[in-house]
Amino acid sequence: LTQKEEYNVLIIGLDNAGKTTLLERIKSTFMGTIGLSPDKIAPTVGLNIGRIEVQGARIKFWDLGGQQDLQSIWSRYYSECHAIAFVVDSTDQRRLEECKDTFETMIMNDLVEGVPVLMLANKQDLPNALRVEEIKEVFNKIAVKLGARDSRVLSVSALEGDGVREAIDWMIKRLQ
Ligand code: GDP
Repeated sequence: LTQKEEYNVLIIGLDNAGKTTLLERIKSTFMGTIGLSPDKIAPTVGLNIGRIEVQGARIKFWDLGGQQDLQSIWSRYYSECHAIAFVVDSTDQRRLEECKDTFETMIMNDLVEGVPVLMLANKQDLPNALRVEEIKEVFNKIAVKLGARDSRVLSVSALEGDGVREAIDWMIKRLQ
C-alpha cells in the first residue's frame, strides 16, 4: 500500500470572516458530513481541523482563530502548510484596512514565501457585500509583495456554498 500524501491548508483571516463556516462547508461538500465535527473546539481556543479526500489528494485544513491575540499563532503553522486560504468578510468595509494589514503581515513572513494564496471574498450572498473587484482593488496595493507566488481572489458564500468547489479546485491544482 502506498501512503497517500497529505497536504496542509491553512484557513486564516480576521475573526468573523467565516473561516469555521467555510471549513464546515468544505467538509459537507466533499465528505458529505453535516454539522460541526467532534474536533470542534471553542472559538477562543481557535483551532478546528478538517480532512477531506478529493481527486486522490488528502487535504488537512487548519482553521485558525482570527482574533488579534490568536494571530501570532498563525506563523507556527506556516512552515508546514502547502497553501493558504485567506477569508475576507466582504460586508465589513469598516475592517477592510485591518484585513489588508493582516494579510500583508502574513505574506511578508519568510515562512510562507512561495506558498500559493487564495483570497476568498466571502458572504457574497449578502446584498451589501463588496464585489470581488472592489476587494481586489484594496489588496492590489500590496500585490507586489506577493512576489512570484500563485494567488487568486475568488468570491464565495461559505454559508450557501457558492464558489466553494471552485476554490478547492484552484487549490488542488497547486498542491499536486
Ligand atoms: P470565523 O470567526 O472566521 O470562524 O467566522 P464564522 O465562521 O464563525 O462566521 C461568523 C459569522 O458570519 C457567523 O454568524 C456565520 O454564520 C456568518 N457567515 C459566515 N460565512 C457566511 C456567508 O457566506 N454568508 C453569510 N450571510 N454569513 C456568513
